[in-house]
Amino acid sequence: MPKDRSELPPVEELLTAAVTGLGGVERPGQVKMAQAVGDAIESEEHLAVQAGTGTGKSLAYLVPAIRHAAESGDAVVVSTATIALQRQLVDRDLPRLADALESLLPHRPEFAILKGRRNYLCRHKMAAGMPEDEDDQLFDPREVSATGRMVQRIQDWANETETGDRDEIVPGVSDQAWRQFSVTARECLGAQRCPSGADCFAELARERAGEADVVVTNHALLAIDAMEDFAVLPEHDVVVVDEAHELVDRVTSVVTGELSESTVSLAVRRAGRLIEQGVADRLQEAGEDLRALLAVAPPGRVDTLPQSLGMTLALVRDAAFACITALGPRNKDKDDPENAGLRKAAFTTLDEVHDTAQRMLDAFGPAAGGDGAGDDEDVDSPGSQDSASARDSASSGGANGGGTDARSEEVHRAEVVWLEEGRGRIPPTLRVAPLSVGGMLRDKLFGDRTVVLTSATLALGGTFDSLSRQWGLRAGEWTGLDVGSPFDHPRRGILYVATHLPQPGRDGLPEAYVDEIAELIEAAGGRTLGLFSSMRAAKAATEALRERLDVPLLCQGDDSTSQLVKQFAGDPATCLFGTLSLWQGVDVPGPSLTLVIIDRIPFPRPDDPLASARQRHVAATGGNGFMAVAATHAALLLAQGAGRLLRSMDDRGVVAVLDPRLATARYSGFLLNSLPPFWRTTDPAKVRDALRRLTADA
Ligand code: SF4
Repeated sequence: MPKDRSELPPVEELLTAAVTGLGGVERPGQVKMAQAVGDAIESEEHLAVQAGTGTGKSLAYLVPAIRHAAESGDAVVVSTATIALQRQLVDRDLPRLADALESLLPHRPEFAILKGRRNYLCRHKMAAGMPEDEDDQLFDPREVSATGRMVQRIQDWANETETGDRDEIVPGVSDQAWRQFSVTARECLGAQRCPSGADCFAELARERAGEADVVVTNHALLAIDAMEDFAVLPEHDVVVVDEAHELVDRVTSVVTGELSESTVSLAVRRAGRLIEQGVADRLQEAGEDLRALLAVAPPGRVDTLPQSLGMTLALVRDAAFACITALGPRNKDKDDPENAGLRKAAFTTLDEVHDTAQRMLDAFGPAAGGDGAGDDEDVDSPGSQDSASARDSASSGGANGGGTDARSEEVHRAEVVWLEEGRGRIPPTLRVAPLSVGGMLRDKLFGDRTVVLTSATLALGGTFDSLSRQWGLRAGEWTGLDVGSPFDHPRRGILYVATHLPQPGRDGLPEAYVDEIAELIEAAGGRTLGLFSSMRAAKAATEALRERLDVPLLCQGDDSTSQLVKQFAGDPATCLFGTLSLWQGVDVPGPSLTLVIIDRIPFPRPDDPLASARQRHVAATGGNGFMAVAATHAALLLAQGAGRLLRSMDDRGVVAVLDPRLATARYSGFLLNSLPPFWRTTDPAKVRDALRRLTADA
């Protein structure tokens, strides 16, 4: 074991030791990536690495990360998008890596996992009984008893848990049940003032993270740490963002604000017991006005602020401000420790209501502050445009567009507001999100750290340009590297595009598609993962094919997704159909997955308010909105979907895309260049023959 940091072995030597220790074989792509990550850390330059499945990319970044931590004494933060990868790193890769590298480093590498505060049980809330936040006990009694059972399970688990980490509860519990025992970072009293501060699970997790060489977290917490004034993560100068293709969406979620009757009611309940009734009633009334307005407004993007909505938002904002004022000075808590938790919770919710209402008004420009601006009729209705291309040309402001004024409004717009339909007990909700998070990432995340971004899918259309633009990185500020894949794609996989089929329509799955799917599945003897662009299409295909085919057909929603994937992997004859989470989350090596069927190019839905607003914004600023937003989104998902096919060196099979536009449309080159280099065909007979041969060999 070297005593001194200057005696540390080079990255290559550590990687060899790690691979040997883990019983693997060294792969050229992995070595190349580890060297590049080591160089990027050394030269403090941002790096984007595309590393195909099977490269062993986690070792390729963990080894140089651990070396840097040993050399600098600072932690390296590794951020992931999914719990599955977090688990793989913490439960499997890091412990084995620590064993393998211990003798070559000054100390055994330490690692820890750190999540946002709301992921940990709050002992104070549990012991003191914070205000009961939920007011829906009067609704569906079945829901109440289901929540009651979950609450009981959380209470039982709370007596045993050593980490207080929500993800330990199996099966999981609903957000509604969990909220009774957790606080957000803003609601937390702070360890110094909290009676349970010394035993706080979130604080203990932070302490462990403070001593670790590698801290594993998620993109949401990474974003919060970068954007807030206070540090959430331990001091670090290097961040590795794995599953980096998800970064923009996760960061956008973190900075999306929402306002509904429920959020206002929660603020009223929390403030109501601490302030004069009349002041709380004013906010209650403003919340009721909002409810009445949103109940009849059409869902979708709010392009121009209707006068009635502008006035109601101003009412909500002013009433929330009056409640905040009525609560008195924020530092009053030290004289009133008993009510400290209640006051903190009330301030947090009122601040959120006030700030979000103001932010929504600001999204329409300075005139929207309360006199109400615009026209009551001008709320976007969903599905008003036929296709992504049509949306693009409409948004370019030309013959179909809104002309110079609309274009200039688009150019200056920074945020987009939209109304989401109510679902079940969730009321209609207004949301506000930035058109782009690139500037924010550039300033806050990339500003004073070295960032390594990696994923199996980063090069879209053959380059990193699309994603680097979304991350806010400019030419010369970063380096891109594609280390390829250890899989022999042209020999092991076929990309089949069904050019003889009609273009997909807007009304469900065409009959010809159902016939094509049936023939392909018969040839493959089951073994099929069906990736559909909508749940409606997945269900329609399942229903139609269950009658026609002799193989077991599972559909997402029949059971938990993890259970369905387990069943699918365990029986080669079984097929699994589903939508978005299957596009990215299925890892089934072996003959159970021989055929991936994709029903249509996964463009964003025409009524996706954020995607359509982003597209129009790019077009208004002189870019190609369709390529920058819709085609990029589709390319990323297609590449992820096609990536389900080959998961190990022995895998073989077919990716069948039924949408003929993948071979015929003007943008097809960009999409095809985003996919692995499979052997390509449009001949259905050849594909069915190949599938029969593969099935016979299996
Ligand atoms: S410090 Fe915050 S999170 Fe921890 S127990 Fe206290 S209030 Fe809860």
